[in-house]
Amino acid sequence: MAARKRAAAIHLKSTAEIDAIARSGAIISALFAELEPRVHPGVTTAALDRFADTYIRSHDGAVPAFKGLYGFPGSACISVNAEVVHGIPRRRRLRQGDIVSIDVGVRQGGWCADSAYTFPVGEIGDDAAHLLAVTRDALRLAVAAARPDHHVGDIGAAVVNRVRGTGLAIIRDLVGHGVGRQIHEEPQVPNRGRAGCGVRLQTGMVLAIEPMLSAGTEEIVTLADRWTVTTADGRLSAHFEHTVAVSADGPAILTGGGIWDRPGAPNRGDQQPATGVGTRLTTTARNR
Ligand code: MG
Ligand code: MG
Repeated sequence: MAARKRAAAIHLKSTAEIDAIARSGAIISALFAELEPRVHPGVTTAALDRFADTYIRSHDGAVPAFKGLYGFPGSACISVNAEVVHGIPRRRRLRQGDIVSIDVGVRQGGWCADSAYTFPVGEIGDDAAHLLAVTRDALRLAVAAARPDHHVGDIGAAVVNRVRGTGLAIIRDLVGHGVGRQIHEEPQVPNRGRAGCGVRLQTGMVLAIEPMLSAGTEEIVTLADRWTVTTADGRLSAHFEHTVAVSADGPAILTGGGIWDRPGAPNRGDQQPATGVGTRLTTTARNR
């Protein structure tokens, strides 16, 4: 989401509420696993969006949370190559070597989860593979920083530290966010930060942590469709996102499993699989 200046209440979630968010999150990770073989040269982003919509609604009471959000026309945001976020699904056909970021929100039983994954389309070049690997690893490290008594700045600092020296840039002006009853809640979760700065993290916070990196500039522009955000220099961009609960036991990924456990996924093995909705209050980082 776009960064903005506003302070509002941060809603802490109970264990039951976190479990409800995890049920929405499990739909997204399973959806991504279903989408993976469907992301291939020749498929349109509109076809992927239709699949996502049908898949989400096939789960009891679940709806795509982005459909109609602020007027967005799609069920998923599908952003190709230089597109960073908020790509509108359309009849464009993916081509060999593209990368495509699919960002999905699900609301079920009144509780939302939010997750994004950047897929390679067929064989991709070394530069694109580097971008995907670093972005996903930045997410892993950012998630690991989401612990009680850390600060929101520790999350951004983890991204900064991972990206330094890679030749990649952290997209400015787009941030993660709290998530719960609403898809976008307080606090904002910047991808750049200083350790020990910002809102103090507490048990019960649920955060969408979502590093967005580019192979060139940190600057973005919004296209004439008023939705699609691209890199200002047209270089590639990648986006990985998890919904994460801050718990006494460490960060609990509520959108894990599914594609994140797949063999062949970028950085395979960099995240521990989730182990069921009620038992996800285990860290992804300390078991490595
Ligand atoms: Mg998202
Ligand atoms: Mg988000």
